Amino acid sequence: MRLILILGDQLSPQIAALAEAEAGRDVVVMAEVMDEASYVPHHPKKIAFLFAAMRKFAARLRDQGWTVAYTELEDPENTQSIPGELLRRADALGATEVIATEPGEWRLISALEDCPLPVHQMPDTRFLASHAEFDAWAEGRKQLRMEYFYREMRRKTGYLMEGGKPEGGKWNYDHDNRKPAPEDVAFEGPLRFAPDAVTEEVLALVADRFGENFGELTPFWFATDAEQAQQALDHFIRHALPKFGDYQDAMLSENRFLYHAVIAQYINTGLLDWRAACDAAEAAYRDGTAPLNAVEGFIRQIIGWREYMRGIYFREGPDYTQRNALGHDRPLPAFYWDADTDMHCVSQAVGQTRDEAYAHHIQRLMVTGNFALLAGIDPAAVHEWYLAVYADAYEWVEAPNVIGMSQFADGGVLGSKPYVSSGAYIDRMSNYCKSCAYKVKQKTGEGACPFNLLYWQFLIRHRAKFEGNPRMAQMYRTFDRMDETRRETVLAEAEDLLARLDRGERI
Ligand SMILES: Cc1cc2nc3c(=O)[nH]c(=O)nc-3n(C[C@H](O)[C@H](O)[C@H](O)COP(=O)(O)OP(=O)(O)OC[C@H]3O[C@@H](n4cnc5c(N)ncnc54)[C@H](O)[C@@H]3O)c2cc1C
Ligand code: SF4
Repeated sequence: MRLILILGDQLSPQIAALAEAEAGRDVVVMAEVMDEASYVPHHPKKIAFLFAAMRKFAARLRDQGWTVAYTELEDPENTQSIPGELLRRADALGATEVIATEPGEWRLISALEDCPLPVHQMPDTRFLASHAEFDAWAEGRKQLRMEYFYREMRRKTGYLMEGGKPEGGKWNYDHDNRKPAPEDVAFEGPLRFAPDAVTEEVLALVADRFGENFGELTPFWFATDAEQAQQALDHFIRHALPKFGDYQDAMLSENRFLYHAVIAQYINTGLLDWRAACDAAEAAYRDGTAPLNAVEGFIRQIIGWREYMRGIYFREGPDYTQRNALGHDRPLPAFYWDADTDMHCVSQAVGQTRDEAYAHHIQRLMVTGNFALLAGIDPAAVHEWYLAVYADAYEWVEAPNVIGMSQFADGGVLGSKPYVSSGAYIDRMSNYCKSCAYKVKQKTGEGACPFNLLYWQFLIRHRAKFEGNPRMAQMYRTFDRMDETRRETVLAEAEDLLARLDRGERI
C-alpha cells in the first residue's frame, strides 16, 4: 500500500500521482498544515480559498471511491508539516512509500527528498512544456526571450495557426493592446460565488487563526471547485474577452478588474485546466465573438508567459529567489502592508490587494513593482510580499515574475532591461494621477511625483550597468541633456525622498 500525496495546488483529477494510484489499494494523503500556511503571511482569502478547495476536492475523491486521509488544520494529531503528515500516516497505515507530484517550489521538493520515507516525485504533467523541453529550447541561446519560446508553443499546440503560419500573419498583436483606460467599463467583473457550507466552515477557521494577516477575508467570492471555476471562465470569455486585449494594460481607480479574467488562482491550483481556457478563447475567435488581438494576447499569457516563467524557475535553480543583481537592500516600506501613502496609484494597488488578494499585471509590474525597483527595495522582501498577498501566488510563477521581470534581480536572465518608468507611464495608462496628492507633470519641487524623482536617481545609481544597453541609451541621453542645476536638483530631491522613506515618514 502506498500513500498518494496531493498538495493544495494539485487539485486536478489528472494529477500525475493520482494517475499512478489504485483506488482500492492506495491511500490519498491531503493535509492543511501550519508550515505551508505560515512560511509567508499569506492573505486570509488565499488560505481560505485553498482549504475550501482542498476539502471539496477530497470529498469528490471519496465519492469516486478513493480512500482519503485528510488532515484538518485543527486536528489534534496534526504534525503541521507535509513530511510530518506523511510519516504519521505511513506509520498508522503501514505504508512504505509515497507517490507525489513534483511541487512547484524548491523548498518543498527538498523537504520531500529529505523525508525518511521513499517519496517518488512524478513530473507535473499539467504543463505544456516539460523541464527537459524548456531546457532543450534554452540550451545555447544567448538570451532567453519569451517571444521565441511562445512561437514554439503556438506551433506545438496549433493555437491560432493556419497552415503552419500564425493567424492574421503576425505572431503577436501586442501593439494593439495598449489602449489607455476607458471612461466606462461595461464588464461587471469576475463571477462571484456565495460561500457554501464547507467554505463557511473554513472562513470561520481562517478568521480565527489568520485574522491578523494582511488582507480582508470577507466578502469571500472565489470559486472553490472545478464547476465554479469553469463558470468563472465562461463568464470571462463571454463578457470580457472581446475587450481584454484593448485594455490589458489600463488601470482605473473605480474598477479593480477591468477586462481581466481573474482565473490564475484557479489554473494554478488545478481547478481549471489551462487548455480549457485557451480552447474557449480560440473558439470565441473562430465564432467571431472576440477579436484576434484579444485572443492572441490571452493565449500568449498562458502558453507563452506562464510556461516560460515556469521554465525559468526550474532552470535557474533553488537560489533564484536570493538573487540581487542590483545590490538593493532597503526594507519594504510599511505602506505595502497598510496602503497608507499619498501616492494614489500605490494606495489603490495595495488597497485592492488587501481587499481582493488580486491586482492585475500592470498594477503589479508598473505600480508596486516599479516603486520597489526604483526605491532599491531588497528583492527578497519584495518576493515574499508578492508570494504572500496574491491568491494566485506560487513560487514557480511568482518568483520569476518578481525577481526576474519586475525587480531585474536576476541580472537579465528574464528581461533585457529593467521595467522602470516615471509617473508619465502611470498617467497615460490610468486615471490615478487625477486623484493624487502629487502632481505627475511636476518633475521637481513641492508636490513632484515620487516616481519622477526616483526614476532618474535609479538610472544614475546604475549608470555603469545600463548605459551601454541600447534599449536604455535614450534615457541617459535625455538626462544628460538637462541643464546641470536641474540634474543636481532631481538627484538631491530623490535622495531626500529616500531618506524620508528610510525614516519611516509618510510619502
Ligand atoms: C510582479 C508580478 C508578480 C506576479 N505574480 C504572479 C503570481 O504569483 N501568480 C501568477 O499566476 N501570476 C503572477 N503574475 C502574472 C500576472 O500578473 C497574473 O497572472 C495575473 O494578473 C492574474 O490575473 P488574471 O487571471 O486576471 O490574468 P489575466 O490578465 O486575465 O491573464 C490571463 C492569464 O494569463 C496568465 N498570465 C498572464 N500574465 C502572466 C505572467 N506574467 N506569468 C504567468 N502567467 C501569466 C495567468 O494564468 C492569467 O490568469 C505576476 C506579475 C507580476 C508583474
Ligand atoms: S502622480 Fe505619481 S504618485 Fe500620484 S498617482 Fe500619479 S504616478 Fe502615482
